[in-house]
Amino acid sequence: MRNPPDRRAFLRTGGLAALAFGTALGAPGTPALGAAGASGRDAAGAGGGAGTAGRDTAGASGRGAAAGATGRAAAGAPRPADWRALAEGLEGSLVRPGDAAYDGARRLFNPAFDAVRPAGVAYCADPSDVAECVGFARRLGVPLAVRSGGHSYAGWSTGTGLVLDVSRMSTVRHASGRATVGAGARLVDVYDRLAAGGVSIPAGTCATVGVSGLALGGGIGVVSRRYGLTCDVMESVRVVTADGRLLTCDADRHPDLYWASRGGGGGNLGVAVSFEFRTHPAREVTVFFLHWPWSRAVRTLRAWQAWAPSAPDAMWSGMHLSRDGGTDVQVVGLYLGGRAGCERLLDRLADAAGPPSSSHVRRTSYRQAMLTMAGCGSLSVGQCHLGGSLPGQTRGGRLSRDRFSATSHMAYRPLSEAGARTLVAQVARAGEHTVLLDALGGAVARVRPDATAFPHRAALYSVQYYAHRAGAATWTRTARAAMRPHFGDHAYVNYVDAGLAGWRSAYYGPNAARLARVKAAYDPGRLFRLPQGI
Ligand SMILES: Cc1cc2nc3c(=O)[nH]c(=O)nc-3n(C[C@H](O)[C@H](O)[C@H](O)COP(=O)(O)OP(=O)(O)OC[C@H]3O[C@@H](n4cnc5c(N)ncnc54)[C@H](O)[C@@H]3O)c2cc1C
Repeated sequence: MRNPPDRRAFLRTGGLAALAFGTALGAPGTPALGAAGASGRDAAGAGGGAGTAGRDTAGASGRGAAAGATGRAAAGAPRPADWRALAEGLEGSLVRPGDAAYDGARRLFNPAFDAVRPAGVAYCADPSDVAECVGFARRLGVPLAVRSGGHSYAGWSTGTGLVLDVSRMSTVRHASGRATVGAGARLVDVYDRLAAGGVSIPAGTCATVGVSGLALGGGIGVVSRRYGLTCDVMESVRVVTADGRLLTCDADRHPDLYWASRGGGGGNLGVAVSFEFRTHPAREVTVFFLHWPWSRAVRTLRAWQAWAPSAPDAMWSGMHLSRDGGTDVQVVGLYLGGRAGCERLLDRLADAAGPPSSSHVRRTSYRQAMLTMAGCGSLSVGQCHLGGSLPGQTRGGRLSRDRFSATSHMAYRPLSEAGARTLVAQVARAGEHTVLLDALGGAVARVRPDATAFPHRAALYSVQYYAHRAGAATWTRTARAAMRPHFGDHAYVNYVDAGLAGWRSAYYGPNAARLARVKAAYDPGRLFRLPQGI
């Protein structure tokens, strides 16, 4: 029996044990893992580059070693000497085919892309390294793929050319209501380090997702109804553009690039090297897990969708309909408040859905709630990583990669009885799959659809079709097609689907035209190229 590796795996990975028995609840003294822990090096200012923050580094075009060393300026297949020059010009490291680390370095989170063999993987230590790699790719015509956590559903953070990996830039600092987060930080480390200071940011549930891919595409999380999407709390982002400049983008400086970086999707416009986010207080919260029998799936679904998107902002929930061994109906959630207030709201759901067959409600620390939602309730932060010694991994990491196929919808209106029946029937089909509905509304809906590049402000919830094993891709495609008459065509760019027809309007709606203008202004030569590139 396999599950998506986060809150969806909660009941089977020890989260329930933590919830029920208090193991490690708010455990003090769990060692925080820094960039040094993950990569063996504590890059001063990694991802923050504090010395240059706040100004545009015109011509921050790397250290200038790579192309110059071979005296080439024109495009063409790079020679071994070009790669050597690139390696020498980096403060970080370059892994090439034949190197011991190569097989680990080229892999993404999803093993479906393991056959892809990049010509090089550059672990950039700072923005100058990033500019160096960007210049190398531009001058020599090498296809460039940018990578943070490596969770791209379509595998677009790898390729046959140069993979620019930002994992070494993973410093997380905070002061005065602001967090500065390196582009390669994994979500579990962001939550952990911010929680040590009593603050957090709204972000996703999967521990090993990189902050860059998440924030650049939007970022839906368990406190988003109260505090917004990750991109909504992004005060500024520092980006190395195709011409090698390091730009600080915010409401006043490069406002178009700032706008596009909040929902336009990673890999499109430049390489983010660090973010500044507005933080919120991270107090104790209440988490809950409720189940209903499969025979009540349609009724529970209709009750949930009427309740969840219009609940008070402090209440977030997701509904999972799964066939994964057996069939299951689960509502998972987090309430920013005490147990009694949470239970009062859950009673309203139960009034409409009927009483759940099981119910676990527990007050816990914010930090432990994030570990629990990540499926790491009984693990330490160090264990809540992929295992290994490459940047972004930890030696004691216990999490595994996951082979899956997925696609999405954004639900702008509630499902009718017929729509709910269709969805439940799709889940009941043979296979191993889950439909995950994540409530929106609240703070997400109070932002205008054109205020950031993320357009789905009126959506009631996101819908993710997530499947494993043989037939997974066929199931996700068929299930989405069956639900199209009910949900329409909207989709979430962070659940990117290489086979999605009409992707431009599905991901971006009316924001697509402005995104194209920003792309033309900042990357006219289309150095950053995706199969579904803006
Ligand atoms: C198990 C699982 C759980 C998830 N849970 C959530 C969730 O709760 N909420 C949610 O909103 N999403 C969630 N996602 C989706 C996730 O947000 C996207 O897959 C996201 O793109 C992953 O980011 P990454 O950095 O890990 O991936 P990557 O593959 O490294 O990057 C994703 C895209 O961004 C680009 N990119 C990466 N780094 C940079 C950079 N520094 N600058 C510019 N472009 C860059 C890449 O080229 C690629 O196109 C989940 C995904 C998985 C697999």
